Amino acid sequence: MQERKIVLSEKDIPKKWYNVVADMPNKPGHPLHPGTKQPIGPEDLAPLFPMPLIEQEVSQERWIDIPDEILDVLSLWRPTPLYRARSLEKALNSPAKIFYKYEGVSPAGSHKPNTSVAQAYYNKISGTKRIATETGAGQWGSALSFACARFGLECTVYMVKVYYRQKPYRRSMIETWGAEVFPSPTDRTEAGRKILAETPDSSGALGIAISEAVEDAATHDDTKYSLGSVLNHVLLHQTVIGLETIKQLETAGETADVLIGSCGGGSNFAGLAFPFLREKLDGKDIRMVAVEPAACPTLTRGKFAYDFGDTVGLTPMVPMYTLGHSFVPPGIHAGGLRYHGDSPLVSQLVRDGIVEAQAYHQNEIFESAVLFAKTEGIIPAPESAHAIKSAIEEALRCAEEGKERTIVFNLSGHGHFDMASYDSFFSKQLEDYSLDEAILEKAVSELPTI
Ligand SMILES: *Cc1c(COP(=O)(O)O)cnc(C)c1O
Repeated sequence: MQERKIVLSEKDIPKKWYNVVADMPNKPGHPLHPGTKQPIGPEDLAPLFPMPLIEQEVSQERWIDIPDEILDVLSLWRPTPLYRARSLEKALNSPAKIFYKYEGVSPAGSHKPNTSVAQAYYNKISGTKRIATETGAGQWGSALSFACARFGLECTVYMVKVYYRQKPYRRSMIETWGAEVFPSPTDRTEAGRKILAETPDSSGALGIAISEAVEDAATHDDTKYSLGSVLNHVLLHQTVIGLETIKQLETAGETADVLIGSCGGGSNFAGLAFPFLREKLDGKDIRMVAVEPAACPTLTRGKFAYDFGDTVGLTPMVPMYTLGHSFVPPGIHAGGLRYHGDSPLVSQLVRDGIVEAQAYHQNEIFESAVLFAKTEGIIPAPESAHAIKSAIEEALRCAEEGKERTIVFNLSGHGHFDMASYDSFFSKQLEDYSLDEAILEKAVSELPTI
């Protein structure tokens, strides 16, 4: 019998996170204050984040210890399995070996609890009583609500209004773990009221919900803010994925030639790929591919510039690939990939030619998702299906070239709460948006000047 999955034991959960900043040839640029446009210091971030997370955000140390209290919660589902996609390989008639790291086994069904648990823990030991956050389709809101419940914290979630209506069961998950959840824009914050005054029927956007959550945290002493992607410390916490994968490939006697992850803010891609960066910089021929939607083509068509993390301009400005903070992407069905910017760490590595970026349209994404479900069984999240599509393309290239490459991708979550999106695909209601260059140029022309 040929093995399908490589499983580790709980004692193999990594005890340290890997901080890619230590090894980057060009370090990411310094964040700037949204008002003064001067470099920010720890004290500027202190109203939003507890000090241990701020220290991780600016750390240059290569390895950072994972506290036992975090490992204890991670052990509920970690280590996650690494699967060999034998049935998919067969269907593609490809000589490639395809592996996928399955993060959908977490309680929330995605990779996001890897960081929500760490963030809740550091908030708890720093005296925070409540965490405010935003969520798009609900993956992050549910992951943080789960983590806050573990550590006895209150949690407030600003959920983008269109998804609050479209994804009622993600909202129910958030409430099951005990958080309160509001459809954003709300009238609870200045930022929300401002948007509602301009656009009373606004269906919301991630950038708006971020503005609301940041304002909530900044105006309440016992409340901090939390972000599910983009920031350095978030990507750091996700490296358990790649560190486990390295061990699993070793166990199987394999080495990766191509690493692939879907890319919204960059955290699941980075979690898989970053721990392999040292081998790559040592000269090993290993490609790293971040995959985004053609309807929100941040890395492939955006501009590398300083921009705000939110729509209103409350957050620090960071250097990243961006479509402009005013850009609102079309309503595609991979809600987790609709952010206007990208992680500064991933952006810098793309800029330096170390990480590649690809973009695909949503109908071809769903075709890949359905092929994957029929062959491997797991119904993937639409976000994760971006990585699947790219892996399939790579495997077909291997078949054409007669090369036996080893492809590893991150299956960042399952799609059990995304079946309405599958319905839209089956009834041919999904539109492939080709974004007009003029729309992108307009959004980019509204970038802040520094
Ligand atoms: C949130 C999410 C993503 C995108 O976020 P990243 O920070 O880029 O990883 C991808 N897949 C799933 C399942 C998600 O929930």
